Order: sequence, then C-alpha cells, then structure tokens
Amino acid sequence: MTAANTFDLIVIGAGSGGIAASRRAASHGAKVLLIEGTRVGGTCVLRGCIPKKLMMYASEMSSAFSEASAFGWSEVTSQFDVARWTQAKDNELNRLEGVYRQMLANSGVQTLLGHARITGERTVEANGETYRAERILIATGGAPSIDGIPGLEQAWTSDDVLQLSALPKSLLVIGAGYIAVEFASILARLGVHVSMAYRADLPLRGFDEDLRAQAAQALESLGVTLHASARSQALSKHAGGFALRLEDGTELQADAVLNATGRKPNIRGLGLESVGIATDASGAIPVDADSRTTAPGIWAIGDVTNRVNLTPVAIAEGRAFADTEFGGRHIQANHANVASAVFCSPPIATIGLTEAQAMERGPTDVYVSQFRPMKKAFVGSQERTYMKLIVDRTTDRVSGIHMLGADAPEIIQGLAIAISAGATKRDFDNTMAMHPTSAEEFVLMREPARRHG
Ligand code: FAD
Repeated sequence: MTAANTFDLIVIGAGSGGIAASRRAASHGAKVLLIEGTRVGGTCVLRGCIPKKLMMYASEMSSAFSEASAFGWSEVTSQFDVARWTQAKDNELNRLEGVYRQMLANSGVQTLLGHARITGERTVEANGETYRAERILIATGGAPSIDGIPGLEQAWTSDDVLQLSALPKSLLVIGAGYIAVEFASILARLGVHVSMAYRADLPLRGFDEDLRAQAAQALESLGVTLHASARSQALSKHAGGFALRLEDGTELQADAVLNATGRKPNIRGLGLESVGIATDASGAIPVDADSRTTAPGIWAIGDVTNRVNLTPVAIAEGRAFADTEFGGRHIQANHANVASAVFCSPPIATIGLTEAQAMERGPTDVYVSQFRPMKKAFVGSQERTYMKLIVDRTTDRVSGIHMLGADAPEIIQGLAIAISAGATKRDFDNTMAMHPTSAEEFVLMREPARRHG
C-alpha cells in the first residue's frame, strides 16, 4: 500500500451526508478520500430536493398567470414546455455540481469517481485500486424501490419525472408518501390529468390526521383523482399506456405511471459481507447513536441507515461523526423535532407531535385556525389555509405545529426554533403579531378547538 493510497478517512458516497462529513473531517486536519459512483451532489442536488423544487416553481407560475388579471394585469397566456425546463434545470444542476466539487477541493478533500466496494475492515476498492483508511464512512443513500408489485419496474420513478422531454396527458401515481403527493400536485398544476392510487385511506401516512385530510382535499381541488384504499396487484404496459390492476378487480388506466411506492437503501455491490455487516428488514445498515455499524472502524450515515431520510439529517449525522472522530468533541445528531415539508400546493409543513401522539402522552389542548388567505380570497379562489398548534396542558409547552397553506415551510422553519427552545403557549400569546400575514394566526389563537384528557 502506497502512502498516496492511505487516508485517515474514506467516505463512500458524495451526497448530502458524505460531502458534509468529508469537509468537516478535512477541516479538523484529516486526510480524506471521498469516492462517488456517479456524480458529486447525490440525491438531494441531482435527483431530489433541488430539481423537485425547481419543478414546483415552474408549476406555481400557472396560478400566477391565471390570477394576474384579477390583480389588474391584462390576460396572460403562456404554454409550459417541459423540455425547456429540463434543459434549464440541467444547466443549474451542472453549475451546482461544479460548486460542490470546488468546495471539496478547497477543503482539501480528494475526490475519486468510481464504484466503491469494501474489501476488509480498513480497505476499500475502486477502479481496480485498493485504498486504506483507519475509518470508513458509508454514505451511499437510497434509490427508488421498484419491486413492490409485478410490472412496477416499467413505471417512471421520481428520477425519470425530473428528466422529461414531453408531458404525458394523464399520469397515475402509485403511492401516497411525500414524494407521491408533491409530484401529483406539481404535474396537475402543469396541466396533466393526475390520479393517485394508494393503500391507506388518506395520503401522507405518519403526518397529523387533520393535515392528511386537508392534503387530500387540496389534491382534489387541483383536479387529482384519488383512489384510496387501493391495493395494487399488477402493472401492465400496452400500446396506449398502462393499466394498474387492483385486488378488487378494478383497472386504472393512464398514459404514464409514476412509481412512488418508496425508497430502499443503496447497498448493492458495497461489500458489506466482507466485514460482517448484516442489514435490517428494510435493507438498511443498523447503527448506534454515534452512527457506528457493527464492524469496527466503519460508520454509516444518511438514507442508507433509514433513520430520518432527509437532507439536513444526513448532513447533521455526517458532521456529528466528523466532529466526534476528528474534532475531539463528542456530538450526536439530534433526531427529535425534525421539521419537514411537503412541497405540494398549497404546501405543508410540520414539526413535533401529531394530535394522536400528543394525546397518548397526556392532557392536550389543540388550537386550530382555518381561513381563506387574503391573496386567494381576492381572486375568488376557494383555497384555504389550515393551522394547528398542539399544546401539552401540563407544561403549557407547544409540542406540535402543523400547517397547510402558502409559505408553510418558510413559516414552520422559523417556528421550529421556538419548539427546539421549549416555547410555551404563553410565549406564543405574548408575541406581537406581524400584520397582515398568515403566520400571525399562530400567535392569535386564543381558545382551544379541542381539549383531550
Ligand atoms: P445521497 O444524497 O443519496 O447520496 C448517496 C451517494 O452515494 C450518491 O451520489 C450515490 O451515487 C453514491 N453511491 C452509492 N453507492 C455507491 C458506491 N458503492 N460507491 C460510490 N458511490 C456510491 N430531503 C429533504 O430534506 N427535503 C426535500 O424536499 C427532499 N425532497 C426529495 C425529493 C425526492 C424526489 C427524493 C428522491 C428525495 C428527497 N429528499 C428530500 C431526501 C434527500 O434527497 C435524502 O434524504 C438525501 O439526499 C440523503 O443523503 P445521503 O447522503 O444519505 O445520500
């Protein structure tokens, strides 16, 4: 082994977590090799958060155009060309990839393109070369799962929807997680006839029940047809498009199908067997609170560990690892109170306990506000904003905040600080409103809509 092939740390995967961990470890003086199989940036930058939000921005233009005349503009008529959007988006992602590469180089991280395979406790092979390090960090992320039902591999995944050169006339989305809801909403606003088929009675399993009901209504208002409690049996492709057969014998037809049934950890060809790491039932790498795997000298972070599969969490886990192992400070990523958003229309954002979770913990007061926001009421739209505060009656602490409405993610990110700081309902009441905003409703809720326990 040459000195050139020997490092303090080898990171596998240049996505959100891997890049953050590499740069932080290098800032502590570690000699770092970062190995990436495809492109620097990972899911968030190249196939997830960023391009999805750019597509959401494109879809939002439709209501800006249709509402413009109500605000005094002459009629705006315009057509959406998805091929033009795809080209512009690719240009932007190339720019971002360049920025990340530059940041890594400036940090002193050595980046290598190639598929990495662990061959022993301290060795990794890529492009036929063997590299050695005292510590190995697995940050290989996840990929769409394509084997949930027979024929599903023929459907688009979110990766494909972000690469379209033409829009289909109709699209069937299978699944109802946040990625399914976001793309259903975005494509409906771009003029596609969208339907959704999912097993549960409402979309967004795991979110607050009222928010789920609000999300279903919002999707229907956009013209999305919802097939709830639908148990998919098989997907087939024919000359005119696709047919999804359900267990009750119904067949749902569409020109195109988006498989949004979930994601699975990326462990293919990683060589986990060479170091005795066994994955859990979901295919994820089990780790402890310090992101240590069962193999000495090997850690794992981000989606490949299937804890909280969000970019900021992967970054926090990566930095905690690097600070602990190279910075002399024992830090653990905090998985409590992680705020999350669904970029549908109107968007959803949430932090903390759902009403059902809070009720299980003790006496709970629930404050709700629903209204037509000023901008929408002005143009005669029926779109509504929904806000909910969950309060622990024993301590008066606000334990959950849920919102569906314009700017919800921006508003909840600010309120997340209050939740992290342990703010009480009294603190909210003592906060002066900022007028005229939607967010002011959160400090103007006086009477609980419901009291539990
Ligand atoms: P990734 O970012 O997936 O990076 C893993 C990297 O490892 C990849 O570049 C891959 O090529 C590489 N790799 C894999 N195997 C190997 C190997 N053997 N050798 C070398 N390299 C390898 N999160 C949010 O917080 N907000 C959002 O709005 C949001 N929207 C999303 C929308 C979509 C459509 C999707 C799919 C995801 C979204 N996410 C969002 C989730 C977010 O993208 C992930 O949680 C995040 O990217 C996970 O980071 P990671 O570092 O674990 O892995």
